[in-house]
Amino acid sequence: MFIHILGSCSGTEPMPGRDYTSWILEEDCGDILWFDAGGPCSAHAYRKGLDPLKAKALFLSHPHGDHTGGLQGIMGVISKAKWLRNDPDIFRKLPCYTAVPEVIEAAHKLCCLSSQKDCWEITPEIHLIETPGEIFSDAEITVDTLPNLHMRLHPETGRHQSWSFRIRRRKNGEAIVYTGDIKSLDELAAWLETPTRLLMLETGHHRADELCKMIRERNWPIEELLFVHHGLEILRDPAGEKAKADAVWGKPVLFADDGMTLAFR
Ligand SMILES: [Zn+2]
Repeated sequence: MFIHILGSCSGTEPMPGRDYTSWILEEDCGDILWFDAGGPCSAHAYRKGLDPLKAKALFLSHPHGDHTGGLQGIMGVISKAKWLRNDPDIFRKLPCYTAVPEVIEAAHKLCCLSSQKDCWEITPEIHLIETPGEIFSDAEITVDTLPNLHMRLHPETGRHQSWSFRIRRRKNGEAIVYTGDIKSLDELAAWLETPTRLLMLETGHHRADELCKMIRERNWPIEELLFVHHGLEILRDPAGEKAKADAVWGKPVLFADDGMTLAFR
């Protein structure tokens, strides 16, 4: 299993060499699960050799543009791959897990407007995230969700709009937690009190060393930290911020770069 970082930048400001947030989980079978869709993530995935027709599902943490701006590109690259293989039936539906389906529907509409022929289009299959718990499972993993307070509740439905994800591997029980954007890491305490192989933390609204300190104080059993969705401090002084985080954590943490791949046996 692999994690591929397609974009490591938060929405604060564009930075050279970093695009907005998106990453892919590549399963042992070769299928890919897409988490967030910021920037030109479909082009990055394609150039890394990830087959768009292997896209099994898409998960959106929340509807902000630094996590959703590349949705049309994902749908477009799948349609283009169908056309290149000259097979209209090879890929029909993309399951999309989101609390705010309007962003998926809008991206699909843009895709349809630019499409030459209906037969190359794909249809997003909306799975609404409404309550905490398991939302997806297959032979290798399960995915469950917890709400967070990065965004206010939806003014009409009263539902949470921002969610975190946890992936658990069936073969060894290992857990990978992805914060998305959060108000406080304590919003994920119910997960972080149990063993976590990898915690993917956002720093768009938090300092890396302060998150490390908080985790140490809470005594959460977390094996490895990967900082993603970098905020201004990391973007301007990555080495300095990493040194501070390493010192508090007591061993090296990982700072994501665009194009980085992590392998899990
Ligand atoms: Zn963000």
